[in-house]
Amino acid sequence: MNKYIFITGGVCSSLGKGVAASSLGALLEGRGLNVRMVKCDPYINVDAGTMSPYQHGEVYVTDDGAETDLDLGNYARFTSGTLCRANSITTGQVYESVIRKEREGRYLGRCVQIIPHITDEIKNRILAVAKEDPDTDVVIVEIGGTVGDYESVPFLEAARQLIHESGKTNAISIHLTLIPEVAGGELKTKPTQHSVKAMQEMGIQPDMLICRAPVMLDEDTCRKISLFTNVGYDEVFTSYDIGTTIYEIPLVFFEQKLDQIVLKKLGVESRHADLDQWYSMMDKFAKRAGKVRIGIVGKYMELHDAYKSVYEALFHAGIENGVEVELAKIDSARLEGADDLDSIMGNDGGGVDGVLVPGGFGQRGINGMIKASAWARTNKVPYFGICLGMQIMVIDWGRNILGWKDADSTEFNQDTKHPVISLLEDQVDVKNYGGTMRLGKWDAVAEQDSKLERAYKQTNIHERHRHRYEFSNKYRKEMQESGLRLSGFTPDRSLVEAVEWPDHPWGLGVQFHPEFKSKPTAASPLFREFIAAAKKDRS
Ligand code: GLN
Repeated sequence: MNKYIFITGGVCSSLGKGVAASSLGALLEGRGLNVRMVKCDPYINVDAGTMSPYQHGEVYVTDDGAETDLDLGNYARFTSGTLCRANSITTGQVYESVIRKEREGRYLGRCVQIIPHITDEIKNRILAVAKEDPDTDVVIVEIGGTVGDYESVPFLEAARQLIHESGKTNAISIHLTLIPEVAGGELKTKPTQHSVKAMQEMGIQPDMLICRAPVMLDEDTCRKISLFTNVGYDEVFTSYDIGTTIYEIPLVFFEQKLDQIVLKKLGVESRHADLDQWYSMMDKFAKRAGKVRIGIVGKYMELHDAYKSVYEALFHAGIENGVEVELAKIDSARLEGADDLDSIMGNDGGGVDGVLVPGGFGQRGINGMIKASAWARTNKVPYFGICLGMQIMVIDWGRNILGWKDADSTEFNQDTKHPVISLLEDQVDVKNYGGTMRLGKWDAVAEQDSKLERAYKQTNIHERHRHRYEFSNKYRKEMQESGLRLSGFTPDRSLVEAVEWPDHPWGLGVQFHPEFKSKPTAASPLFREFIAAAKKDRS
């Protein structure tokens, strides 16, 4: 029998439910359990692929090409279980399949309703995750939104039914709430009491509480919370503001014995906890000395979540290189009108030790990115181009080395005489925007003795993709002859996967997204090498 842990949130959003769920996943993995993580998103979008990064943050891509909520990125950074399409459940998917079945007549004339048809569909999708991997021990299901939201009701009802049907030791509920501090420094438990009541109204008695609070809650406060919520005193935990990094949270929970209580409640015998990788990562984190400053030149700069995995991967690479990575977020549109980039990026300006141009879509700010690429290239400042950032390197090369002033991607200029980046052949007839890009894990092969090969320490690379446009093959010869190194290809060599600048300390662009596979305990090789080059540049 698989075990289920439902994680819900109350009081308000942004309490770190995803990090709490992931941290618990990390602890249970540390105890040798095989953990699968699932996110239920109550929005009606079928997936996150069509949502603007401005509104919803980054789209996280899985190996099998699902475009999911960024919480799956958290799961991937904390845990090691497979994440695929099945691990992200949205209201849109649930309704889409129920309505399809209804049209196919599969409900045999019955009236199709939220209960049981929508809730059954949710339950089946949750149960399917464990069925996919027979070795699964525990499935952690995070329910998005806040208890009390209209839209999460079917998910909470499905959770209630699953808990009821699985029996007490097979499924538990952990509720995350906020303990705010009011003027005078007093901590308030009332919002938590109300939030647990809202859960009880949904028919779910939380088994454990994780309280977000500025400080570790004292015994009296925990006893009071326990008394008002029917949750045992030992089952009230604090997720306090740690001031270090979210990656310490598994250890914060471990010290409070959160995982032991979970195992006890689920009837799993206690076993040795191996958290060495987390302790040694935190040790490296504490020993970081010095800084490197990385200029991120992109278009979605206002919202930190828009480039979440990129920022996290830079942070991981900093830990591995023993330096703090400081981010200089530069809106590329701002560079467009600037005559002199030195004043923004150079020593007389922000003084960046490396430039990273991340992925993106649409024309705005493109010329600023091209300027940033040319600046890093000519000033020999390490440059890392990811997806769009690689395409920018190619456009810069076309315009500034080959002298084709109109060199462009057909994404931005369909009439250019030098379409150095153009639509992938199989994209030409695509009309539907959801889930139709070149998505997910694809193999790439690095050229011998390239920076790409040196970073991965092998020629075979498996990274995730999300793009419609590509390096245009008809320009391969001229680009190569003028010195641009094409350093990675698909195994059949039909697509260019990476380019490198010659005579440059570290200028590399990749068509894939290495940020999605980076972990605090194992940084992505390309991010690691980029930060190593930036560190060298600074010294
Ligand atoms: N807009 C570009 C394309 O579709 C780059 C995509 C990306 O950076 N993810 O190819």
